[in-house]
Amino acid sequence: MAKGFEKVMSEIFDISRTFADLGLRGSVLKGIETCGFEHPTHIQATLIPSILTGKDVLGQAKTGTGKTAAFGLPILHAVDKDTPMQALILAPTRELAVQIVQELDELGQSTPLRAVPIIGGNSIKSQARAIKEGAQIMVGTPGRVMDMYERKAIHFDNIKFAVLDEVDRMLDIGFRDDIRRILGKIKREHQTVFVSATISDEIDRLSRKFMRDGDEVEKITTVSQSLTVSLVTQKYLSVHPKDKRRLLRHLLTHEEPALTVVFCRTKMTVRRLCEYLRDKGVKVHQIHGDLHQNKRNRVMQQLRGGKLEVLIASDLAARGLDVQGITHIINYDLPEDPEVYVHRIGRTARAGASGTAWSFVTTEEGQRLTEIEKLTGVLIEELDYPDFKPGKHAEREQQDVPAEDERKSRYDLVTAPTSDGDSDEVDPNLFPGGVAPKGPPRRTLGARFRTKRSR
Ligand code: ADP
Repeated sequence: MAKGFEKVMSEIFDISRTFADLGLRGSVLKGIETCGFEHPTHIQATLIPSILTGKDVLGQAKTGTGKTAAFGLPILHAVDKDTPMQALILAPTRELAVQIVQELDELGQSTPLRAVPIIGGNSIKSQARAIKEGAQIMVGTPGRVMDMYERKAIHFDNIKFAVLDEVDRMLDIGFRDDIRRILGKIKREHQTVFVSATISDEIDRLSRKFMRDGDEVEKITTVSQSLTVSLVTQKYLSVHPKDKRRLLRHLLTHEEPALTVVFCRTKMTVRRLCEYLRDKGVKVHQIHGDLHQNKRNRVMQQLRGGKLEVLIASDLAARGLDVQGITHIINYDLPEDPEVYVHRIGRTARAGASGTAWSFVTTEEGQRLTEIEKLTGVLIEELDYPDFKPGKHAEREQQDVPAEDERKSRYDLVTAPTSDGDSDEVDPNLFPGGVAPKGPPRRTLGARFRTKRSR
């Protein structure tokens, strides 16, 4: 094995172990083999044995490192074929729930077990039918699960496992009451498994309140140093707000990234950006929560089938989605919550592949970028991009900025002394580098970044 490859492999996989070492039963091992999994990832190698001992587990591992199989395999191992509704897995989006069902179906193909999605936007009847036919595993979004429970189409009498995927999102204000109600209805002794790539101390504390015996919960984390995988190259581009659309179009048409997901903060921005790019002849698709479910499904199908080049997305697509071949993530807007950044860029560089994440940063967003760096433990460098010419508005504003400053990097200036009280005083928190840029990014930085054009 080449050294670099070996290093990458061992960052994600526990190459000293096989799945057979973890105590899983034969039919499950057969499915794993058919899926082509050779070694467990680190989270799988630690989480699976722990779940098999019957403990409640809180698991944290980086994006794309196989958390679904980490909780899914012990469930496939432990549920029996004759009892319906033994496992309940909750996820924040319908797309993620469907993906979990698909992965369980693949991994469990040599078992008689069945997983069904319990999600909005699809017919209640067909989901209820699948349950009636004896499906052992339910994977759903909280609203529909509650709805089906109240209609008595499902019950929790046989539940052995309750899983919260993306636990920090599931315990967010928006979902928390539903989760409390759902978990509160499970009377039978059961095991809880909560996982995410981002589990703050606060979420850790809160999670334990939703588990059997908070003090007995085993916390397993395979995250050390940084919160993001080393295979994703992260850069930021400073840009004037009025130049963002043009810069995006420029990147998409000049760099021709293979498969790109562009994240925006609001659904309206997704829609407008999509219209703008289409007007300019760029082939783009969109996904956000206001689209009809059929349309969402179609876009997901095209994405998974490798039929899209550019997808403009709201944070609906930020969490959990596992699509092969996404090479680039562009944060058109930085997310308000730094944890969302981790999930967004986690749509690339999955399961040992590499990827690129570019973030647009305007003058107002410097502090936000710093918060992302603090959370992830990664220093995000500026991407010099001289090929793009900022608009006139940016040029006008730049006249107010001291000429080419001496900074080597924005980090030098964060610690640089500021002037005492004059109006040009710099707040290092305002902008990467602490330069109070009334203007756009510098346009003549040495072309570290070569574009197709400049080649
Ligand atoms: P996460 O939930 O941690 O973001 P996923 O569970 O979506 O990651 O897994 C990412 C990808 O890695 C999926 O395509 C999955 O099938 C694949 N995968 C999971 N475990 C293994 C393994 N042990 N060997 C190879 N591929 C794996």
